[in-house]
Amino acid sequence: MPVTDQAFVTLATNDVYCHGALVLGQSLRNHKTSRRLAILITPQVSREMRAALRTIFDSVVDVKEIDSNDLVHLTLLKRLELGVTFTKLHCWTLTQYSKCVFMDADTLVLCNVDELFEREELSAAPDSGWPDCFNSGVFVFQPSLKTFKHLLQFASEHGSFDGGDQGLLNSFFSSWATKDINKHLPFIYNLSSSTVYTYAPAFQHFGKDTKVIHFLGPAKPWNYKYNPQTRTVTPNDSASVSENQLPFLELWWITYKSSVLPLLEKIQEPPIQQ
Ligand code: UDP
Ligand code: MN
Repeated sequence: MPVTDQAFVTLATNDVYCHGALVLGQSLRNHKTSRRLAILITPQVSREMRAALRTIFDSVVDVKEIDSNDLVHLTLLKRLELGVTFTKLHCWTLTQYSKCVFMDADTLVLCNVDELFEREELSAAPDSGWPDCFNSGVFVFQPSLKTFKHLLQFASEHGSFDGGDQGLLNSFFSSWATKDINKHLPFIYNLSSSTVYTYAPAFQHFGKDTKVIHFLGPAKPWNYKYNPQTRTVTPNDSASVSENQLPFLELWWITYKSSVLPLLEKIQEPPIQQ
């Protein structure tokens, strides 16, 4: 039975991240989620992309871009593009849903993860870079205009220690690290692909149970080249791809080629006749 008052939610502020969102949405459909799919987009997203999004998502919601404009901290993070992730806060305005799971556009589900809706706000998995912080790529939350207002107020008063949404959300939900272990999602619900390098034996032992892969960091799956004949994924800057990461990148590309590209090709309008 579909559950109409709960949803998976993602965000794309431009057409590039829409490619990721479409693959994520398709992966949730492939694994037969019983929940609704919603996406927040900003005015830069093109008309064609909106049409494509509407075929996979139940709800495409236009929101205004919010930027942290925090150059100092974003420079420290070496990710100047992440100021716009403050736009993510709009997810709290989706009050037509009683509970939601936010997922970054650079995540991919490997199986059905509807059991996440059994968790309460704010549930998330530890960040591999600083495990007393949660990673804001996957989290369970409860839409509420009151919380949204408090978050904006908190942002204007305190900013974010990393310049992006993750620093802000960790300061706001600061009891996450210690208060309630039920709010700690297992790492397999947000496995950052870069962790593969830092603790290889753990990955070898637990990696097979991965439920959600997160292509965290500056190199996203859409920045690689994929050759379907040889089934090889090559980075554009000719750096090498870790062997553990390869099957996940390949799965992203297979989903993209089989379901998303055909959709985008169908929607492309024929060129205007001169
Ligand atoms: N995002 C976006 N446009 C941007 C940057 C980020 O829409 O220019 C959204 C997108 O959903 C993305 C999320 O914000 O997945 C967080 O950014 P990203 O995944 O690049 O950060 P990372 O997980 O690498 O820290
Ligand atoms: Mn991400």
